[in-house]
Amino acid sequence: MKAFPITIRDFRPVDEAIITDGGVSVKEIKPKTMESKLVSGLYFAGEIIDVTGFTGGFNLQIAFSTANAAALG
Ligand SMILES: Cc1cc2nc3c(=O)[nH]c(=O)nc-3n(C[C@H](O)[C@H](O)[C@H](O)COP(=O)(O)OP(=O)(O)OC[C@H]3O[C@@H](n4cnc5c(N)ncnc54)[C@H](O)[C@@H]3O)c2cc1C
Repeated sequence: MKAFPITIRDFRPVDEAIITDGGVSVKEIKPKTMESKLVSGLYFAGEIIDVTGFTGGFNLQIAFSTANAAALG
C-alpha cells in the first residue's frame, strides 16, 4: 500500500453518509457486557464503537447486538 499513493480530490456529500468510522476502541470494551475497561459503569453500543460494517444490515445488527449486551450486562 505504501507504493500505491492516492490523492483524495473530494468527499461525497454528508447527506450520502451512512456510517461513522472510528470511535471507542473495542480493545477498551469488555465484549460480554460492553462496559468500558477504563471507566467502571460506562457502557457503549452502536456507532460510538470503532466497528464499521458493510451496508446491508450489519451496522444495524451491531447497534442492536451491542445495545442488547449492554442492557443485559
Ligand atoms: C442514510 C443512512 C443509511 C443507512 N443504511 C444502513 C443500512 O442499510 N444498513 C445498516 O446496517 N446500517 C445503515 N445505516 C447505519 C445505521 O443506521 C447506524 O449504524 C445505526 O442506526 C447506529 O445506531 P446507533 O444507535 O449507534 O446511533 P443512532 O441511530 O445515530 O442513534 C443515536 C441517537 O442519539 C441521539 N442523540 C444524539 N445526541 C444526543 C444527546 N446529547 N442527548 C440525547 N440523545 C442524543 C440521536 O438523536 C439519535 O437518536 C445507515 C445510516 C444512514 C445515515
